[in-house]
Amino acid sequence: MILKNAFVLRNYSETPQKLDIKILNGKIEKIKKKIEEKNDEVVDLDNKLIIPGLVNTHTHAAMSVFRGVAEDLSFDTWFFKVIDPLESKLNEEIVYWTTLVSLMEMASNGIVAFCDMYMFEDVVAKAVADFGMKAVLTRGLVDIDGNGNGRLKETFKLLEKWHGFENRIYIGLGPHAPYTCSIDYLTEIAKISKDNDILVTMHLFENSWEKEKFNLKEILKTGIANNQLLAVHCVHIDDNDINLLFDYNVFISNNPSSNLKLGNGIAPITKMLSKGLNISFGTDGAASNNSLNVLFEARLSTLLQKKDNPENMKIEDVIKMLTTNGYKALKINGGEIKEGNYADFTILDLDNPSFLPIENIKNHLIHSNPKIFATMVNGKFIYFDGQFPTIDKKEVYKQFTISYRKVIGIEN
Ligand SMILES: [Zn+2]
Repeated sequence: MILKNAFVLRNYSETPQKLDIKILNGKIEKIKKKIEEKNDEVVDLDNKLIIPGLVNTHTHAAMSVFRGVAEDLSFDTWFFKVIDPLESKLNEEIVYWTTLVSLMEMASNGIVAFCDMYMFEDVVAKAVADFGMKAVLTRGLVDIDGNGNGRLKETFKLLEKWHGFENRIYIGLGPHAPYTCSIDYLTEIAKISKDNDILVTMHLFENSWEKEKFNLKEILKTGIANNQLLAVHCVHIDDNDINLLFDYNVFISNNPSSNLKLGNGIAPITKMLSKGLNISFGTDGAASNNSLNVLFEARLSTLLQKKDNPENMKIEDVIKMLTTNGYKALKINGGEIKEGNYADFTILDLDNPSFLPIENIKNHLIHSNPKIFATMVNGKFIYFDGQFPTIDKKEVYKQFTISYRKVIGIEN
């Protein structure tokens, strides 16, 4: 396949230019000013901008079923009183359909890859496999209820069945949070991470009471970050914690909408960036955001950090966080449009008044109003001009509605 006539932003530090891209076996084979080859499928992308695929480094995809279900509540009421009890109604079938809805939403927002932490990850993997997206999937791990081992067994099964599937699906370890995982459990998880060379992702210091109850050094001394830790939120951390996160090479997922909506605060992103930490963006689940759009997260985070100093969070740094940093956080290759890389693209429509003047399109990506035209993963379109070519949208919506009614307890 040859993508023709588009502007291409090869990576965060360059300037978009008109280039053709040839894709073969899911990878970028050639990038040139003009590629004229017969017998290839040609996709004319005139008036479009191709950028490296956007990455969502934290979500709970199946939680689309809880979107709008619990609003205007404190974190404790939201989680312990509403969401946690409703989660007991979920099953494999429900999670399959509700995950697909989130994959559709992410694709329509230009997201090519994401990191998930939830339950029934076997069917989450099936949804990702069917839809065509790229993901690191983690079974949420908790041992305070005595079933820590059962959840680890699920992780081992996932590893065996899905890790490396079509160079798109990878398995990681997902200890839920310091308040649901004991130090012994984290130590065991750290060992499994090292033995299998897979990443760990964990909610960390999302709430102020976590900072009071738990000690970051004690958590990191378990070895949890020795292979790779993607820490989510990190809102309530001080300068010492930032130094520790840097020393242990911890990756950070910044989820500003969720943090603000649940009243948890604003993460010290500027401080972490100046220390040199790898920071990327996550949406969190649709129950606490309520949209899965990392371009929005990037803009919100940037504006929050510019509040006191407009020189904070420069455009190129933010594009890097959305792309290159996201891939590094997920421990997979990508984030740049270059020969040999997988063809993971976010394609924007330049037929958009908020993208004029066209000379400044790179700046419009963060501070204007981007419109997504198409999303491609490993050389295949998963979203194209309002359509989802890999699935039957009507059937997904129908099954989603049935699932929602079952979870909430609405009789037919
Ligand atoms: Zn989360």
